[in-house]
Amino acid sequence: MKAICIIPVGEIDRGVVAHLQVTLKEIFRCETSVWQEIPIPEDYFNSNRKQYHATDVLRRLQNLRNDRKSRVIGVIDRDLYVPRLNFVFGEAGMYTGAAIISLTRLRQEYYGMPGDIHLYYLRALKEAVHEIGHTLLLDHCADPCCIMHFSNSLNDTDKKGPGFCSRCRKKLDRHTA
Ligand SMILES: [Zn+2]
Ligand SMILES: [Zn+2]
Repeated sequence: MKAICIIPVGEIDRGVVAHLQVTLKEIFRCETSVWQEIPIPEDYFNSNRKQYHATDVLRRLQNLRNDRKSRVIGVIDRDLYVPRLNFVFGEAGMYTGAAIISLTRLRQEYYGMPGDIHLYYLRALKEAVHEIGHTLLLDHCADPCCIMHFSNSLNDTDKKGPGFCSRCRKKLDRHTA
């Protein structure tokens, strides 16, 4: 992997984006850049669910990818879903090189608790690393402390990573070599 391109989808907290740019660079040992914001694709809003269809938004992002050796990750501050799940924190295409994460459910305020910016940034990083991991052909991992463990709740997210277990790190090094 040569580079990770972070794409703000709609207006989002620039502090999170700056944090991701620095930390993703360290974790994946590649260049990171922030692209120009793209508008929220309102066609993908499901008015019954009050959520956006993650796979559709993802498709929009994968069309923006201009280099097979890079990955694009969209960051959106809207709630995302896929059919059959109440919500998703993010989604990624294994073979398209594109990923998306939603910030909406990562804030303590969403659950009626006092804000915690440190925790919020850390969660955003974890979700981003997890989804980018999928674009690098990593599957879900059984180790609950590994970033590739499936998160069904923020509890799961808070328990794991941001790093990879030794098994996933080895696979990653093979895929990114
Ligand atoms: Zn996953
Ligand atoms: Zn693992």
